[in-house]
Amino acid sequence: MKRDYAVIGLGRFGGSICRELSMEGMEVLVIDNDEDKINEYKNIASHAVIADATDEASLKELGIKNIDHVIVAIGDNIQASILTTVILTDLGIKKITVKAQNDYHEKILNKIGADNVVHPERDMGKRIAHNIISNNILDYLELSDDHSIVEVKAGEKMVGKTLIDLDIRANYGCNVVAIKQGKDINVSPAAEDVLVEEDVLIVIGSDKDISRFEKNLV
Ligand code: ATP
Ligand code: ATP
Ligand code: CA
Repeated sequence: MKRDYAVIGLGRFGGSICRELSMEGMEVLVIDNDEDKINEYKNIASHAVIADATDEASLKELGIKNIDHVIVAIGDNIQASILTTVILTDLGIKKITVKAQNDYHEKILNKIGADNVVHPERDMGKRIAHNIISNNILDYLELSDDHSIVEVKAGEKMVGKTLIDLDIRANYGCNVVAIKQGKDINVSPAAEDVLVEEDVLIVIGSDKDISRFEKNLV
C-alpha cells in the first residue's frame, strides 16, 4: 500500500524516518532549508526539495496539500517548528506528526492542532531507564501521565509459577493482559498457566504499582 508522506527537517530524527519509510517502499517528499541535507537525501527520498517550511507559499507550491501525512522534524528551532505546524493545520493536512523539543513545545503543538506529538529523546530515555533497572524489562510504554504498560521477560522469580502463585493483581495492582511466547501471543492468559523461560508478560498498571512490581518481581 503506497501512501504519500512528507518529512520536514532532516536532522537525525527526520532523516531516520525518511530512510525507514523509503526502505518500506513509501513515496517520501523531504524538505529542508539546508542544501547539504537535501543533497544527502536526494537519492534516498522520492523527492527532495530545498525550501523554508515557514513560508506558506513555498509549501503550497510543493503541493503539500495533496499529502496525507506530514512529519515535522525541525528540532532546535522551536519557532520554525510551531510556524510550520500552524501553516499545515491551516492548509487542512489530514495528519500531522511533530517532534517536540520540550514539554512547553509539546503543549503548544497540541493546542494548535498537531495530531500526534512525539518526544523521542524523553521517551527513549524513559524506556532505557527501565531497561537499566532490569535486563528483563524489554519495553515501557506510557499510556497517560500516571499509567503505563511494561513488557517483561519471565525471570527466575516467575518461571515455573502460575499467575495465581504470583498473584500480581492482588500484590501489585497490575494486570497481565497478554503473554508472548515467541511469535505467539496469548491475549487471555489463564490464571493456572505455568510461566516458562522466554515468556514475555505484558503488564498494565499505574506507574506506582508498576514500579513496585518491577522492584520486587522482575
Ligand atoms: P536531531 O533529530 O538530530 O536531534 P534536531 O531535532 O536537533 O535533530 P535540528 O538539527 O535542529 O533538529 O533540525 C533538523 C533539520 O531541520 C535541520 O536539517 C534543519 O536544516 C531543518 N530546518 C530547520 N528550520 C527549517 C525550516 N524553517 N525549514 C526547513 N527546514 C528547516
Ligand atoms: P539531546 O538528548 O537533548 O538531543 P544531545 O545528545 O544533543 O542531547 P548535548 O546537549 O550535546 O546532548 O549534551 C548533553 C549534556 O551533556 C549537556 O547537558 C552537556 O552539558 C553535558 N556534557 C557535554 N560534555 C560534557 C562533559 N565533557 N562532561 C560532562 N557533561 C558534559
Ligand atoms: Ca537534538
